[in-house]
Amino acid sequence: MVDLKAWLSRQREGEGLRSLRPVIRRGKGRITLAGDGDRELLDFSSNDYLALAEHPALIAAAQQALSRFGAGSGAARLMSGDLAVHHELEEAVARLKGKEAALTFGSGYMANIGIIPALVDRHDLIFSDRLNHASIHDGCRLSGARLVRFRHNDLNHLEDLLKEKRGRGSALIVVESIYSMDGDRCPLRELVELKERFGCLLMVDEAHATGVFGQNGGGVIEEDGVSGGVDLAMGTFGKALGSYGAYVAGNREMIDYLVNRARSFIFSTALPPAVAAASLAAVRLIRQEPDLRHELHEKITCFKALLRTGGCGADLGPSQIIPILIGESGAALHKADLLRKQGIFATAVRPPTVPDGTARLRFSITRHHSTADLAQAAKALLEIMDT
Ligand SMILES: *Cc1c(COP(=O)(O)O)cnc(C)c1O
Repeated sequence: MVDLKAWLSRQREGEGLRSLRPVIRRGKGRITLAGDGDRELLDFSSNDYLALAEHPALIAAAQQALSRFGAGSGAARLMSGDLAVHHELEEAVARLKGKEAALTFGSGYMANIGIIPALVDRHDLIFSDRLNHASIHDGCRLSGARLVRFRHNDLNHLEDLLKEKRGRGSALIVVESIYSMDGDRCPLRELVELKERFGCLLMVDEAHATGVFGQNGGGVIEEDGVSGGVDLAMGTFGKALGSYGAYVAGNREMIDYLVNRARSFIFSTALPPAVAAASLAAVRLIRQEPDLRHELHEKITCFKALLRTGGCGADLGPSQIIPILIGESGAALHKADLLRKQGIFATAVRPPTVPDGTARLRFSITRHHSTADLAQAAKALLEIMDT
């Protein structure tokens, strides 16, 4: 048993202690921190990229489902919790991702720790990008499969490892299409080529891509035209889709199999009807209103241009997630404080979420940000980078 007091004080000294701080939402991407009076901050930490969490269509869908079906679903899907809205949502997701079928989960974390152990076991291999999300990593460990981690986005390294270790058992390759802390993008076409050459299953986590990329918002797999080559297209409703919960899309057999084998699906209560209804409204919106996505991309371009014009030479990446590398945790925390004083809320992301020595400020752009908001944030950021 760890000595809790000693552990906590050690973390505090190393600037590694995390703590909760309630936030009051003011709407339009503005928040107030509890204990901070009335001062509004511009939220650059939200994953609600399309500002759908406050969209009237989601709110109305949730309210209607709430009053018709109640607050909870009452049981797991395989018991009596299986509602029509779950099926409608799954059909809509399957269409969006260009796959035959889909299955919903309680959250992205639950999806990843349920899907991966259902597919591979201790006789098998997993090839996992080193920067994959903690939920993917935990799913890999839970499976008991031999875990081979390749250098981030380095397909030459992956190919070498496949040649060296592939063997005869099943093998799963797992990546994210847009990386959550770096905002960079996986070269999916080349990856599909590799997975076919080496006879592996390919799972892609599109948590930060669905709704943001692809002509219909179907993610990078749609944009790169590789839906057919991706065996499992996983993602969450909690980010650009403005709701909560998660999904995986695949062929019919894959989904039928997961219904029987993914333990975090089987042994967990079905998504509440209001949550599923809000997610369904979001999936429909992102197809029907591509302008939501276009507006977001204009804002992303605008913010990056402001930073570049201001002399920022850093690589700002290809997505709505913009990492500003600082280095040590203490320095990152200090810079986040300075930004807060200027009305900008961007979280300092520190180890163990990111590798040691790569603490950073993570900016995420959302459709809430006005041109003036972006200008204010860029100015504040350029100033603190000089200090
Ligand atoms: C956020 C995230 C998850 C977890 O999704 P939740 O629905 O928040 O549990 C999984 N994978 C990636 C890449 C994520 O960024």
